[in-house]
Amino acid sequence: MPAKPLECRAHVVAVRALAPQIIEVDLAMDDPPALEFEAGQWVSVPFGPKNVRAYSIASTPDSPDVVTLCADVAPGGIGSQWFRELRPGSIVEFKAPFGGFVFSREDPRRALFVAEEIGIVPIYAMLAELDHTEPGRPATLIHGGRDPEWLPYLDAFSARAEANPAFTYRPVVESAPPEWSGERGSLVEVVERGVTTVENLVVYVSGGGEMIRRLREILTARGLARRDYRWEKFW
Ligand SMILES: Cc1cc2nc3c(=O)[nH]c(=O)nc-3n(C[C@H](O)[C@H](O)[C@H](O)COP(=O)(O)OP(=O)(O)OC[C@H]3O[C@@H](n4cnc5c(N)ncnc54)[C@H](O)[C@@H]3O)c2cc1C
Repeated sequence: MPAKPLECRAHVVAVRALAPQIIEVDLAMDDPPALEFEAGQWVSVPFGPKNVRAYSIASTPDSPDVVTLCADVAPGGIGSQWFRELRPGSIVEFKAPFGGFVFSREDPRRALFVAEEIGIVPIYAMLAELDHTEPGRPATLIHGGRDPEWLPYLDAFSARAEANPAFTYRPVVESAPPEWSGERGSLVEVVERGVTTVENLVVYVSGGGEMIRRLREILTARGLARRDYRWEKFW
């Protein structure tokens, strides 16, 4: 049974800049002392009546006492400003867990994950959990962004793909220095070219609404059932 959302309090124990505009924070849970959630779910941070921002949980349910969030702070609104100001010791209040963008473990089909920039966060958690629990299960991740700085966890995914032949990682950027060894171009086009059949496939997509809509059109036109296209729209 999915856990019911609870009012939670935690404090920041670490802040890391993964890139100039991408910040990761670790929150040690105070109340409750451990958060029950599924990989891919998110927390809701309140900023006054009817004003909230959602942040996906980057960490996995096997460390329920420390929850990691990761944000792109470039949008610059109230959520970005709040995230930028977090320091070790800051008290954080939120409600969690929410969301149904979670990996269906009992589904034996091939899983394709597609993420646009910071949309990687829930997929990072799902893949980390899969790596701990079922590393031999085939999974492909296509992660796209404007340049390599906008692909959080690039090094971790590259190392995992090297160590685990069941995991395929295809980073794609619109611009990169000459030494870049991943793909170049648009995320949607790379997925369009790379998915030659939708048979036996289930797709998890996270990022901007425009990318989610275009990919859904392409893949459903090739015969993918709408229920086999699962998505989380960040913006
Ligand atoms: C279920 C869910 C999970 C989410 N998880 C995360 C997460 O893990 N990390 C994270 O950084 N954000 C996440 N978001 C987005 C987050 O809730 C905020 O919208 C984001 O941080 C911007 O908030 P803001 O107040 O700074 O800007 P806002 O004032 O809310 O937004 C300003 C403008 O920027 C656009 N925008 C917002 N985010 C982006 C982006 N990344 N790239 C391009 N344009 C954008 C908005 O559509 C709006 O037009 C999630 C959203 C949802 C719905």
